[in-house]
Amino acid sequence: TVKNGVHANYAFYNESIRDKLLEEKAIVSQMQEALNDKEFVVYYQPKVGLSSGAIACAEALVRWKKADGRVIAPDKFIPIFEKNRLISALDQYVFETVCRFLRRRLDQGQPVLPISVNISRLQFFREDFVATYAGIKDRYRIPDGLLELEFTESIAFDNLAFLADIVNQLKRQGFFCSIDDFGKGYSSLSLLKSLPIDTLKIDRLFFLDSDDKEKDAILVESIVGLVRKLNIRTVAEGIESQEQVAFLKSINCDLVQGYVFFRPMPEQEYEAAIEREREREPLIQV
Ligand code: C2E
Ligand code: MG
Ligand code: MG
Ligand code: MG
Repeated sequence: TVKNGVHANYAFYNESIRDKLLEEKAIVSQMQEALNDKEFVVYYQPKVGLSSGAIACAEALVRWKKADGRVIAPDKFIPIFEKNRLISALDQYVFETVCRFLRRRLDQGQPVLPISVNISRLQFFREDFVATYAGIKDRYRIPDGLLELEFTESIAFDNLAFLADIVNQLKRQGFFCSIDDFGKGYSSLSLLKSLPIDTLKIDRLFFLDSDDKEKDAILVESIVGLVRKLNIRTVAEGIESQEQVAFLKSINCDLVQGYVFFRPMPEQEYEAAIEREREREPLIQV
């Protein structure tokens, strides 16, 4: 009967949901073990200044390096961690790893460039978020201006006053603040009005090879012009060609992050890249 058919479908549906939940549960328990076993590693992707042609700063990007050697990209596990609220522990682990790295370079008297760290939107709902991050920054005695926090625009932006308050608190603690993936989701110009951010990262979406290339160029040029007038730095994300670099330079974008110059790399390689800066020509001919 139809009724049975419905029931059969329902059971099937239930089963696939159950499988999915079991799989997620397995990932979550693996994650807890992985945090203990230090399987999460932090990679660094340099951002290049368009006027200097040199590395200006970098972004920390987490990787899950399984015991069997496989490296898993964040897109695979971050959404699951977010659902299970484990993301705070991971974000904090990445942040602390970055602080430890900066502290070591400071202690060794090596050149130190600012590093940005991604923050899940869930952090904003933790009452102790600002205090926790400021506490770690202080514990490692990281000078103001060396740490930037990147958050995506999809954060509960229906409550801008709440968010502005947190951004202000972070800035008072010496953090720079950045909006990531701008233009991808629910971007609204009121973000730029309400949030005292330092940096805006223009999403990779505008730099993909597509039929809308001309439109993309007009939009990017307009965003960069607008944002500069508000004294906010601009970063173009996901840049893969020299042609794009030349365009971004011509419209006075501040920074470029993309495979055209560097892929995300392990800590030691990042240090070697900074070291090489001294000997080589600017990455962009001026
Ligand atoms: P995101 O913060 O927007 O980071 C930029 C992503 O673009 C990175 O992917 C980077 O590897 C990639 N990318 C950079 N240049 C290029 C390019 O030229 N071409 C292409 N195709 N891709 C490029 P990744 O490392 O896989 O990270 C993906 C996302 O995962 C990040 O996007 C960020 O939202 C999230 N994520 C990474 N680490 C963390 C973390 O520690 N905490 C949280 N909450 N999220 C993180
Ligand atoms: Mg980011
Ligand atoms: Mg302080
Ligand atoms: Mg991004």
